[in-house]
Amino acid sequence: METTLRGVGVSHGVAIGEVRHMGTAVLEPPAKQIPTEDAEREQGRARQAVDAVAADLMARGNLAGGEAQAVLEAQAMMAQDPELMADVDRRIAVGSTAERAVYDAFAAYRELLAGAGEYLAGRVADLDDVRNRIVARLLGVPMPGVPDSDQPYVLVARDLAPADTALLDPSLVLGFVTEEGGPTSHSAILARALGVPAVVALPGAGELAEGTMIAVDGSTGDVFVNPGEEKKAQLRAAAAERKAALAAATGPGATADGHKMPLLANVGGPADVPAAVAAGAEGVGLFRTEFLFLDDSKNAPSEEKQVEAYRQVLEAFPEGRVVVRVLDAGADKPLDFLTPADEPNPALGVRGLRTLLDHPEVLRTQLTALAKAAEGLPVYLEVMAPMVADRRDAKAFADACREAGLRAKFGAMVEIPSAALRARSILQEVEFLSLGTNDLAQYTFAADRQVGAVSRLQDPWQPALLDLVALSAEAARAEGKSCGVCGEAASDPLLACVLTGLGVTSLSMGSASIPYVRATLAKYTLAQCERAAAAARAADSAEEARGAAQAVLSGE
Ligand code: PEP
Ligand code: MG
Repeated sequence: METTLRGVGVSHGVAIGEVRHMGTAVLEPPAKQIPTEDAEREQGRARQAVDAVAADLMARGNLAGGEAQAVLEAQAMMAQDPELMADVDRRIAVGSTAERAVYDAFAAYRELLAGAGEYLAGRVADLDDVRNRIVARLLGVPMPGVPDSDQPYVLVARDLAPADTALLDPSLVLGFVTEEGGPTSHSAILARALGVPAVVALPGAGELAEGTMIAVDGSTGDVFVNPGEEKKAQLRAAAAERKAALAAATGPGATADGHKMPLLANVGGPADVPAAVAAGAEGVGLFRTEFLFLDDSKNAPSEEKQVEAYRQVLEAFPEGRVVVRVLDAGADKPLDFLTPADEPNPALGVRGLRTLLDHPEVLRTQLTALAKAAEGLPVYLEVMAPMVADRRDAKAFADACREAGLRAKFGAMVEIPSAALRARSILQEVEFLSLGTNDLAQYTFAADRQVGAVSRLQDPWQPALLDLVALSAEAARAEGKSCGVCGEAASDPLLACVLTGLGVTSLSMGSASIPYVRATLAKYTLAQCERAAAAARAADSAEEARGAAQAVLSGE
Protein backbone atom coordinates (compact mmCIF):
# COMPACT_ATOMS: atom_id res chain seq x y z
CA MET A 1 0.00 0.00 0.00
CA GLU A 2 1.29 3.47 -0.86
CA THR A 3 1.96 5.71 2.16
CA THR A 4 3.58 9.11 2.50
CA LEU A 5 6.06 10.26 5.15
CA ARG A 6 7.12 13.87 5.54
CA GLY A 7 10.61 15.04 6.53
CA VAL A 8 12.79 18.01 5.62
CA GLY A 9 14.07 18.18 2.04
CA VAL A 10 17.71 19.31 2.06
CA SER A 11 19.04 18.37 -1.36
CA HIS A 12 16.93 18.75 -4.51
CA GLY A 13 15.83 16.04 -6.93
CA VAL A 14 13.91 12.77 -6.89
CA ALA A 15 15.37 9.36 -6.07
CA ILE A 16 13.38 6.17 -6.60
CA GLY A 17 14.87 2.91 -5.38
CA GLU A 18 15.08 0.20 -2.73
CA VAL A 19 15.90 0.92 0.89
CA ARG A 20 19.31 -0.17 2.17
CA HIS A 21 20.08 0.59 5.79
CA MET A 22 23.41 1.77 7.06
CA GLY A 23 25.53 -0.97 8.74
CA THR A 24 24.19 -1.85 12.18
CA ALA A 25 25.16 0.32 15.08
CA VAL A 26 27.53 -1.04 17.66
CA LEU A 27 25.85 -2.79 20.58
CA GLU A 28 26.10 -1.33 24.05
CA PRO A 29 29.07 -3.04 25.74
CA PRO A 30 28.13 -4.80 29.02
CA ALA A 31 28.86 -2.82 32.20
CA LYS A 32 31.19 -5.33 33.87
CA GLN A 33 33.78 -4.52 36.56
CA ILE A 34 37.49 -5.19 36.09
CA PRO A 35 40.05 -5.68 38.87
CA THR A 36 42.22 -2.61 39.65
CA GLU A 37 45.39 -4.32 38.46
CA ASP A 38 43.93 -4.58 34.92
CA ALA A 39 43.26 -0.83 34.68
CA GLU A 40 46.59 0.10 33.13
CA ARG A 41 46.28 -2.55 30.43
CA GLU A 42 42.70 -1.43 29.63
CA GLN A 43 43.80 2.21 29.42
CA GLY A 44 46.50 1.13 26.94
CA ARG A 45 43.90 -0.75 24.84
CA ALA A 46 41.61 2.29 24.83
CA ARG A 47 44.44 4.58 23.73
CA GLN A 48 45.51 2.19 20.97
CA ALA A 49 41.97 1.93 19.63
CA VAL A 50 41.53 5.71 19.68
CA ASP A 51 44.83 6.27 17.85
CA ALA A 52 43.99 3.63 15.24
CA VAL A 53 40.54 5.13 14.58
CA ALA A 54 42.00 8.65 14.33
CA ALA A 55 44.65 7.43 11.87
CA ASP A 56 41.96 5.65 9.81
CA LEU A 57 39.82 8.81 9.68
CA MET A 58 42.82 10.89 8.57
CA ALA A 59 43.61 8.33 5.85
CA ARG A 60 39.99 8.40 4.64
CA GLY A 61 40.20 12.19 4.60
CA ASN A 62 43.33 12.13 2.45
CA LEU A 63 41.56 9.83 0.00
CA ALA A 64 38.43 11.95 -0.14
CA GLY A 65 40.09 15.41 -0.32
CA GLY A 66 38.21 18.73 -0.37
CA GLU A 67 35.51 19.58 2.14
CA ALA A 68 35.12 15.93 3.21
CA GLN A 69 38.76 15.91 4.28
CA ALA A 70 38.21 18.78 6.69
CA VAL A 71 35.20 17.00 8.20
CA LEU A 72 37.07 13.72 8.66
CA GLU A 73 40.06 15.49 10.16
CA ALA A 74 37.75 17.22 12.64
CA GLN A 75 36.43 13.77 13.59
CA ALA A 76 39.96 12.46 14.08
CA MET A 77 40.51 15.37 16.47
CA MET A 78 37.29 14.52 18.32
CA ALA A 79 38.56 10.95 18.77
CA GLN A 80 41.74 12.22 20.39
CA ASP A 81 40.17 15.00 22.43
CA PRO A 82 42.32 15.15 25.59
CA GLU A 83 39.34 15.76 27.90
CA LEU A 84 37.42 12.81 26.50
CA MET A 85 40.51 10.62 26.86
CA ALA A 86 40.99 11.78 30.44
CA ASP A 87 37.37 10.83 31.16
CA VAL A 88 37.92 7.37 29.61
CA ASP A 89 41.02 6.87 31.78
CA ARG A 90 39.11 7.93 34.90
CA ARG A 91 36.28 5.52 34.18
CA ILE A 92 38.72 2.63 33.64
CA ALA A 93 40.56 3.52 36.87
CA VAL A 94 37.31 2.95 38.80
CA GLY A 95 36.61 -0.43 37.21
CA SER A 96 35.18 0.02 33.66
CA THR A 97 36.35 -2.02 30.70
CA ALA A 98 37.94 0.03 27.91
CA GLU A 99 34.88 -0.36 25.62
CA ARG A 100 32.39 0.53 28.34
CA ALA A 101 34.49 3.52 29.44
CA VAL A 102 34.61 4.83 25.85
CA TYR A 103 30.88 4.25 25.45
CA ASP A 104 30.02 6.12 28.67
CA ALA A 105 32.50 8.97 28.22
CA PHE A 106 31.14 9.68 24.72
CA ALA A 107 27.57 9.47 26.02
CA ALA A 108 28.32 12.20 28.58
CA TYR A 109 29.92 14.42 25.95
CA ARG A 110 27.06 13.71 23.52
CA GLU A 111 24.54 15.06 26.01
CA LEU A 112 26.51 18.26 26.32
CA LEU A 113 26.62 18.69 22.52
CA ALA A 114 22.98 17.77 21.93
CA GLY A 115 21.85 20.49 24.33
CA ALA A 116 24.27 23.10 23.03
CA GLY A 117 22.26 24.61 20.19
CA GLU A 118 21.61 23.76 16.57
CA TYR A 119 25.12 23.83 15.15
CA LEU A 120 26.75 21.59 17.75
CA ALA A 121 23.72 19.30 17.88
CA GLY A 122 24.39 18.76 14.16
CA ARG A 123 27.80 17.36 15.11
CA VAL A 124 26.28 14.64 17.34
CA ALA A 125 26.18 12.18 14.44
CA ASP A 126 29.90 12.74 13.86
CA LEU A 127 30.60 12.06 17.53
CA ASP A 128 28.44 8.89 17.56
CA ASP A 129 30.29 7.62 14.54
CA VAL A 130 33.67 8.15 16.23
CA ARG A 131 32.42 6.32 19.33
CA ASN A 132 31.03 3.42 17.28
CA ARG A 133 34.32 3.03 15.46
CA ILE A 134 36.36 2.96 18.66
CA VAL A 135 33.98 0.56 20.42
CA ALA A 136 33.81 -1.74 17.36
CA ARG A 137 37.57 -1.85 17.29
CA LEU A 138 37.79 -2.71 20.99
CA LEU A 139 35.12 -5.42 20.64
CA GLY A 140 36.75 -6.81 17.50
CA VAL A 141 33.51 -6.52 15.44
CA PRO A 142 33.17 -5.05 11.92
CA MET A 143 33.06 -1.26 11.61
CA PRO A 144 29.65 0.27 11.06
CA GLY A 145 29.36 1.46 7.50
CA VAL A 146 27.62 1.75 4.14
CA PRO A 147 25.77 -1.29 2.78
CA ASP A 148 27.66 -3.73 0.65
CA SER A 149 25.58 -3.63 -2.55
CA ASP A 150 26.38 -3.50 -6.23
CA GLN A 151 22.85 -2.38 -7.16
CA PRO A 152 21.80 1.27 -6.83
CA TYR A 153 19.86 1.98 -3.61
CA VAL A 154 18.45 4.70 -1.36
CA LEU A 155 20.58 4.89 1.75
CA VAL A 156 18.57 5.04 4.97
CA ALA A 157 20.16 5.77 8.33
CA ARG A 158 19.53 7.31 11.72
CA ASP A 159 22.02 9.97 10.71
CA LEU A 160 24.95 9.77 8.36
CA ALA A 161 28.55 10.02 9.44
CA PRO A 162 31.04 11.81 7.21
CA ALA A 163 33.55 8.95 7.45
CA ASP A 164 31.18 6.79 5.39
CA THR A 165 29.42 9.31 3.21
CA ALA A 166 32.74 10.74 2.07
CA LEU A 167 33.60 7.46 0.39
CA LEU A 168 30.14 6.64 -1.00
CA ASP A 169 29.95 5.76 -4.64
CA PRO A 170 27.47 8.29 -6.09
CA SER A 171 26.68 5.92 -8.96
CA LEU A 172 25.21 3.46 -6.43
CA VAL A 173 23.59 5.85 -3.98
CA LEU A 174 20.41 7.27 -5.47
CA GLY A 175 19.57 9.39 -2.43
CA PHE A 176 19.74 9.72 1.35
CA VAL A 177 17.02 9.49 3.97
CA THR A 178 17.80 10.02 7.64
CA GLU A 179 15.70 9.89 10.75
CA GLU A 180 17.67 12.66 12.44
CA GLY A 181 19.79 15.59 11.31
CA GLY A 182 18.83 19.02 10.05
CA PRO A 183 19.72 21.37 7.20
CA THR A 184 23.18 22.00 8.67
CA SER A 185 24.01 18.36 9.50
CA HIS A 186 26.75 16.66 7.54
CA SER A 187 24.24 14.36 5.83
CA ALA A 188 22.73 17.48 4.28
CA ILE A 189 26.03 19.15 3.40
CA LEU A 190 27.47 15.99 1.88
CA ALA A 191 24.28 15.09 -0.03
CA ARG A 192 24.39 18.54 -1.62
CA ALA A 193 28.10 18.12 -2.37
CA LEU A 194 27.43 14.72 -4.01
CA GLY A 195 24.42 16.13 -5.82
CA VAL A 196 22.00 13.39 -4.63
CA PRO A 197 18.46 14.08 -3.34
CA ALA A 198 18.10 13.91 0.44
CA VAL A 199 15.43 14.10 3.10
CA VAL A 200 16.43 14.42 6.76
CA ALA A 201 14.51 14.40 10.05
CA LEU A 202 12.09 11.78 8.72
CA PRO A 203 10.22 10.13 11.60
CA GLY A 204 9.99 6.36 11.13
CA ALA A 205 12.91 6.11 8.67
CA GLY A 206 14.54 3.47 10.86
CA GLU A 207 11.49 1.19 10.57
CA LEU A 208 11.46 1.07 6.77
CA ALA A 209 12.09 -2.58 5.88
CA GLU A 210 15.23 -3.41 3.93
CA GLY A 211 14.44 -3.65 0.21
CA THR A 212 11.22 -1.56 0.38
CA MET A 213 10.68 0.57 -2.73
CA ILE A 214 10.58 4.30 -1.86
CA ALA A 215 10.52 7.56 -3.77
CA VAL A 216 12.35 10.48 -2.16
CA ASP A 217 11.54 14.05 -3.13
CA GLY A 218 14.44 16.15 -1.85
CA SER A 219 12.70 19.39 -2.76
CA THR A 220 9.47 18.89 -0.79
CA GLY A 221 10.71 16.51 1.93
CA ASP A 222 8.15 13.84 0.97
CA VAL A 223 9.04 10.15 1.01
CA PHE A 224 6.54 7.84 -0.69
CA VAL A 225 6.62 4.23 0.50
CA ASN A 226 5.67 1.62 -2.13
CA PRO A 227 4.78 4.30 -4.70
CA GLY A 228 2.52 3.19 -7.56
CA GLU A 229 3.55 3.61 -11.21
CA GLU A 230 1.44 6.73 -11.53
CA LYS A 231 3.11 8.42 -8.54
CA LYS A 232 6.56 7.53 -9.83
CA ALA A 233 5.79 9.01 -13.25
CA GLN A 234 4.35 12.14 -11.65
CA LEU A 235 7.44 12.62 -9.45
CA ARG A 236 9.82 12.04 -12.33
CA ALA A 237 7.95 14.62 -14.43
CA ALA A 238 8.00 17.22 -11.65
CA ALA A 239 11.73 16.68 -11.05
CA ALA A 240 12.45 16.92 -14.77
CA GLU A 241 10.53 20.19 -14.91
CA ARG A 242 12.53 21.65 -12.01
CA LYS A 243 15.76 20.43 -13.55
CA ALA A 244 14.82 22.00 -16.88
CA ALA A 245 14.15 25.31 -15.13
CA LEU A 246 17.59 25.13 -13.53
CA ALA A 247 19.26 24.07 -16.75
CA ALA A 248 17.51 26.88 -18.66
CA ALA A 249 19.36 29.38 -16.51
CA THR A 250 22.86 28.78 -17.86
CA GLY A 251 25.78 31.04 -18.56
CA PRO A 252 27.12 33.91 -16.53
CA GLY A 253 25.17 35.08 -13.48
CA ALA A 254 22.87 38.05 -14.11
CA THR A 255 19.58 39.56 -13.00
CA ALA A 256 16.51 39.42 -15.25
CA ASP A 257 17.44 42.83 -16.72
CA GLY A 258 21.00 41.80 -17.45
CA HIS A 259 22.89 43.29 -14.49
CA LYS A 260 25.97 41.04 -14.34
CA MET A 261 26.72 39.19 -11.12
CA PRO A 262 29.66 36.79 -11.59
CA LEU A 263 29.02 33.49 -9.80
CA LEU A 264 32.26 32.03 -8.49
CA ALA A 265 33.16 28.88 -6.56
CA ASN A 266 34.66 28.38 -3.12
CA VAL A 267 37.28 25.63 -3.30
CA GLY A 268 39.67 23.99 -0.86
CA GLY A 269 42.08 22.66 -3.49
CA PRO A 270 42.36 20.92 -6.88
CA ALA A 271 39.93 18.15 -5.78
CA ASP A 272 37.04 20.64 -5.70
CA VAL A 273 37.70 22.05 -9.17
CA PRO A 274 35.73 19.54 -11.35
CA ALA A 275 32.49 20.28 -9.43
CA ALA A 276 33.09 24.02 -9.85
CA VAL A 277 33.62 23.66 -13.60
CA ALA A 278 30.55 21.40 -13.91
CA ALA A 279 28.40 23.97 -12.09
CA GLY A 280 29.48 26.62 -14.60
CA ALA A 281 31.44 28.69 -12.06
CA GLU A 282 32.89 31.76 -13.73
CA GLY A 283 36.03 31.35 -11.68
CA VAL A 284 37.05 30.86 -8.07
CA GLY A 285 36.04 33.51 -5.56
CA LEU A 286 37.70 31.88 -2.57
CA PHE A 287 40.53 29.36 -2.67
CA ARG A 288 40.99 28.38 0.98
CA THR A 289 44.69 27.51 0.89
CA GLU A 290 44.86 26.31 4.48
CA PHE A 291 43.90 22.76 3.44
CA LEU A 292 47.36 22.48 1.87
CA PHE A 293 48.91 23.19 5.24
CA LEU A 294 47.06 20.51 7.18
CA ASP A 295 49.16 17.50 6.10
CA ASP A 296 52.12 18.36 8.28
CA SER A 297 51.56 19.92 11.66
CA LYS A 298 55.19 21.04 11.98
CA ASN A 299 56.14 22.65 8.67
CA ALA A 300 54.66 24.70 5.86
CA PRO A 301 54.38 22.83 2.53
CA SER A 302 57.40 23.37 0.26
CA GLU A 303 57.28 26.04 -2.44
CA GLU A 304 57.21 23.30 -5.12
CA LYS A 305 54.24 21.55 -3.54
CA GLN A 306 52.37 24.83 -3.34
CA VAL A 307 53.18 25.78 -6.96
CA GLU A 308 51.80 22.43 -8.10
CA ALA A 309 48.49 22.80 -6.21
CA TYR A 310 47.96 26.45 -7.19
CA ARG A 311 48.71 25.73 -10.82
CA GLN A 312 46.13 22.94 -10.98
CA VAL A 313 43.44 25.33 -9.81
CA LEU A 314 44.60 28.24 -11.99
CA GLU A 315 44.74 26.06 -15.11
CA ALA A 316 41.12 25.02 -14.67
CA PHE A 317 39.94 28.58 -15.31
CA PRO A 318 41.79 29.87 -18.36
CA GLU A 319 40.70 33.48 -18.90
CA GLY A 320 38.68 33.22 -15.68
CA ARG A 321 39.19 34.85 -12.36
CA VAL A 322 40.78 33.01 -9.44
CA VAL A 323 40.88 34.64 -6.02
CA VAL A 324 43.38 32.95 -3.76
CA ARG A 325 43.26 33.63 -0.08
CA VAL A 326 46.62 33.40 1.66
CA LEU A 327 46.85 31.10 4.64
CA ASP A 328 44.15 31.70 7.24
CA ALA A 329 45.58 29.92 10.29
CA GLY A 330 44.62 30.31 13.92
CA ALA A 331 41.38 30.31 15.97
CA ASP A 332 39.26 27.43 14.62
CA LYS A 333 42.08 26.46 12.22
CA PRO A 334 45.20 26.34 14.44
CA LEU A 335 48.55 25.19 13.05
CA ASP A 336 51.06 23.93 15.61
CA PHE A 337 54.05 25.71 14.12
CA LEU A 338 52.33 29.08 13.72
CA THR A 339 49.53 29.48 16.23
CA PRO A 340 50.38 30.47 19.82
CA ALA A 341 49.26 27.65 22.11
CA ASP A 342 48.35 29.77 25.10
CA GLU A 343 45.90 32.34 23.79
CA PRO A 344 43.00 32.95 26.19
CA ASN A 345 40.68 33.79 23.30
CA PRO A 346 42.03 32.48 19.98
CA ALA A 347 39.28 34.04 17.82
CA LEU A 348 40.52 37.44 19.02
CA GLY A 349 44.18 36.48 18.95
CA VAL A 350 46.90 35.98 16.39
CA ARG A 351 45.07 34.55 13.38
CA GLY A 352 44.77 35.13 9.64
CA LEU A 353 46.96 37.97 8.36
CA ARG A 354 48.27 38.61 11.88
CA THR A 355 49.89 35.17 11.86
CA LEU A 356 51.47 35.80 8.48
CA LEU A 357 52.87 39.18 9.48
CA ASP A 358 54.49 37.46 12.46
CA HIS A 359 55.92 34.80 10.12
CA PRO A 360 56.86 36.76 6.98
CA GLU A 361 58.81 33.78 5.56
CA VAL A 362 55.60 31.72 5.34
CA LEU A 363 53.80 34.55 3.54
CA ARG A 364 56.78 35.14 1.23
CA THR A 365 56.94 31.46 0.21
CA GLN A 366 53.22 31.40 -0.47
CA LEU A 367 53.26 34.56 -2.57
CA THR A 368 56.34 33.42 -4.50
CA ALA A 369 54.68 30.06 -5.16
CA LEU A 370 51.58 31.87 -6.43
CA ALA A 371 53.66 34.10 -8.72
CA LYS A 372 55.38 31.02 -10.19
CA ALA A 373 52.11 29.10 -10.55
CA ALA A 374 50.49 31.93 -12.52
CA GLU A 375 53.48 32.41 -14.84
CA GLY A 376 52.47 32.11 -18.48
CA LEU A 377 48.78 31.50 -17.72
CA PRO A 378 46.12 33.89 -19.04
CA VAL A 379 44.17 33.63 -15.76
CA TYR A 380 43.22 36.75 -13.78
CA LEU A 381 44.89 36.06 -10.48
CA GLU A 382 43.69 37.94 -7.42
CA VAL A 383 45.22 37.41 -4.00
CA MET A 384 43.61 38.43 -0.74
CA ALA A 385 44.40 38.45 2.94
CA PRO A 386 42.06 37.17 5.66
CA MET A 387 41.31 39.17 8.81
CA VAL A 388 42.41 42.63 7.67
CA ALA A 389 41.59 45.07 10.49
CA ASP A 390 42.76 48.43 9.13
CA ARG A 391 44.73 50.32 6.50
CA ARG A 392 48.05 49.40 8.11
CA ASP A 393 47.23 45.67 7.73
CA ALA A 394 46.16 46.23 4.12
CA LYS A 395 49.40 48.11 3.34
CA ALA A 396 51.57 45.42 4.97
CA PHE A 397 49.89 42.77 2.81
CA ALA A 398 50.11 44.81 -0.41
CA ASP A 399 53.82 45.52 0.29
CA ALA A 400 54.49 41.80 0.79
CA CYS A 401 52.74 41.02 -2.53
CA ARG A 402 54.79 43.66 -4.36
CA GLU A 403 58.04 42.45 -2.79
CA ALA A 404 57.29 38.88 -3.95
CA GLY A 405 56.95 40.22 -7.52
CA LEU A 406 53.35 39.06 -7.74
CA ARG A 407 51.51 40.28 -10.83
CA ALA A 408 47.98 40.12 -9.52
CA LYS A 409 45.30 42.24 -7.92
CA PHE A 410 45.73 42.46 -4.14
CA GLY A 411 42.66 42.50 -1.94
CA ALA A 412 41.43 42.48 1.63
CA MET A 413 38.75 40.32 3.20
CA VAL A 414 36.18 42.18 5.21
CA GLU A 415 35.68 39.93 8.21
CA ILE A 416 36.16 42.41 11.04
CA PRO A 417 33.59 45.20 11.51
CA SER A 418 36.39 47.82 11.61
CA ALA A 419 37.26 46.90 8.01
CA ALA A 420 33.68 47.48 6.87
CA LEU A 421 33.41 50.76 8.78
CA ARG A 422 36.68 52.05 7.30
CA ALA A 423 36.47 50.30 3.92
CA ARG A 424 37.43 53.44 1.97
CA SER A 425 40.64 53.81 3.91
CA ILE A 426 41.53 50.14 3.31
CA LEU A 427 40.80 50.61 -0.38
CA GLN A 428 43.61 53.18 -0.56
CA GLU A 429 45.99 50.20 -0.29
CA VAL A 430 44.24 47.34 -2.11
CA GLU A 431 42.20 46.88 -5.27
CA PHE A 432 39.26 44.85 -4.08
CA LEU A 433 37.27 43.73 -1.06
CA SER A 434 35.75 40.34 -0.35
CA LEU A 435 33.20 39.97 2.41
CA GLY A 436 33.76 36.93 4.64
CA THR A 437 30.28 36.98 6.13
CA ASN A 438 30.92 33.96 8.38
CA ASP A 439 33.57 35.74 10.42
CA LEU A 440 31.99 39.14 9.93
CA ALA A 441 28.88 37.81 11.69
CA GLN A 442 31.01 36.26 14.43
CA TYR A 443 32.75 39.56 15.19
CA THR A 444 29.74 41.82 14.68
CA PHE A 445 27.61 39.92 17.16
CA ALA A 446 30.42 38.76 19.49
CA ALA A 447 29.10 35.25 18.80
CA ASP A 448 31.71 32.51 18.42
CA ARG A 449 30.93 30.65 15.20
CA GLN A 450 31.80 27.34 16.89
CA VAL A 451 29.37 27.77 19.78
CA GLY A 452 25.91 26.39 18.99
CA ALA A 453 24.31 28.24 21.88
CA VAL A 454 24.81 31.56 20.06
CA SER A 455 23.99 30.30 16.55
CA ARG A 456 20.93 32.59 16.33
CA LEU A 457 23.34 35.50 15.99
CA GLN A 458 25.27 33.79 13.21
CA ASP A 459 22.34 34.25 10.83
CA PRO A 460 23.59 36.29 7.83
CA TRP A 461 20.12 37.82 7.44
CA GLN A 462 20.75 39.94 10.56
CA PRO A 463 20.09 43.55 9.47
CA ALA A 464 23.27 44.76 11.22
CA LEU A 465 25.31 42.43 9.03
CA LEU A 466 23.46 43.66 5.93
CA ASP A 467 24.35 47.23 6.98
CA LEU A 468 28.05 46.35 7.05
CA VAL A 469 27.76 44.67 3.66
CA ALA A 470 26.12 47.83 2.29
CA LEU A 471 28.84 50.06 3.77
CA SER A 472 31.60 47.98 2.18
CA ALA A 473 29.86 47.84 -1.20
CA GLU A 474 29.24 51.62 -1.18
CA ALA A 475 32.88 52.31 -0.32
CA ALA A 476 34.05 50.10 -3.17
CA ARG A 477 31.68 51.77 -5.61
CA ALA A 478 32.91 55.22 -4.53
CA GLU A 479 36.50 54.11 -5.12
CA GLY A 480 35.68 52.44 -8.45
CA LYS A 481 36.74 49.04 -7.08
CA SER A 482 35.03 45.68 -6.57
CA CYS A 483 33.48 44.12 -3.48
CA GLY A 484 32.42 40.44 -3.60
CA VAL A 485 30.91 38.11 -1.02
CA CYS A 486 32.57 34.74 -0.34
CA GLY A 487 30.97 33.73 2.98
CA GLU A 488 28.08 31.23 3.25
CA ALA A 489 25.60 34.11 2.84
CA ALA A 490 26.17 34.04 -0.93
CA SER A 491 24.85 30.49 -1.24
CA ASP A 492 21.30 31.33 -0.08
CA PRO A 493 19.46 32.16 -3.35
CA LEU A 494 17.14 34.73 -1.75
CA LEU A 495 19.93 36.40 0.20
CA ALA A 496 22.04 36.41 -2.97
CA CYS A 497 19.37 38.68 -4.52
CA VAL A 498 19.52 40.96 -1.48
CA LEU A 499 23.33 41.10 -1.61
CA THR A 500 23.05 42.04 -5.28
CA GLY A 501 20.64 44.79 -4.30
CA LEU A 502 23.11 46.00 -1.67
CA GLY A 503 25.65 46.58 -4.43
CA VAL A 504 28.14 43.72 -4.13
CA THR A 505 29.92 42.87 -7.39
CA SER A 506 30.32 39.07 -7.27
CA LEU A 507 29.08 36.06 -5.29
CA SER A 508 31.22 33.06 -4.39
CA MET A 509 29.84 29.86 -2.88
CA GLY A 510 30.09 26.07 -2.70
CA SER A 511 29.67 24.76 -6.26
CA ALA A 512 26.44 22.87 -5.57
CA SER A 513 24.65 26.15 -4.79
CA ILE A 514 25.61 27.92 -8.02
CA PRO A 515 22.72 26.63 -10.24
CA TYR A 516 20.14 27.60 -7.60
CA VAL A 517 21.56 31.09 -7.10
CA ARG A 518 21.86 31.57 -10.86
CA ALA A 519 18.23 30.53 -11.48
CA THR A 520 16.83 32.71 -8.67
CA LEU A 521 18.83 35.77 -9.63
CA ALA A 522 17.65 35.45 -13.23
CA LYS A 523 14.04 35.86 -12.07
CA TYR A 524 14.38 39.40 -10.67
CA THR A 525 15.53 42.77 -11.93
CA LEU A 526 18.22 44.81 -10.22
CA ALA A 527 15.56 47.30 -9.08
CA GLN A 528 13.60 44.46 -7.42
CA CYS A 529 16.77 43.24 -5.70
CA GLU A 530 17.43 46.80 -4.48
CA ARG A 531 13.91 47.07 -3.09
CA ALA A 532 14.28 43.68 -1.37
CA ALA A 533 17.61 44.84 0.10
CA ALA A 534 16.09 48.05 1.44
CA ALA A 535 13.18 46.13 2.97
CA ALA A 536 15.56 43.66 4.63
CA ARG A 537 17.69 46.47 6.07
CA ALA A 538 14.60 48.18 7.46
CA ALA A 539 13.73 45.08 9.50
CA ASP A 540 14.65 44.46 13.14
CA SER A 541 15.54 40.78 13.06
CA ALA A 542 16.90 38.14 10.71
CA GLU A 543 13.48 36.48 10.41
CA GLU A 544 11.77 39.77 9.60
CA ALA A 545 14.48 40.66 7.09
CA ARG A 546 14.02 37.35 5.27
CA GLY A 547 10.24 37.74 5.29
CA ALA A 548 10.42 41.33 4.04
CA ALA A 549 12.75 40.45 1.16
CA GLN A 550 10.60 37.47 0.24
CA ALA A 551 7.48 39.65 0.24
CA VAL A 552 9.07 42.23 -2.06
CA LEU A 553 10.37 39.64 -4.50
CA SER A 554 7.16 37.64 -4.66
CA GLY A 555 5.24 40.87 -5.27
CA GLU A 556 3.05 40.54 -2.14
C1 PEP B 1 34.27 33.85 6.15
O1 PEP B 1 34.70 34.05 7.29
O2 PEP B 1 33.15 34.21 5.74
C2 PEP B 1 35.12 33.13 5.16
C3 PEP B 1 34.76 33.03 3.90
O3 PEP B 1 36.23 32.53 5.63
P1 PEP B 1 36.23 31.15 6.48
O4 PEP B 1 34.84 30.61 6.50
O5 PEP B 1 37.21 30.26 5.79
O6 PEP B 1 36.71 31.65 7.81
MG1 MG C 1 36.83 33.81 7.66
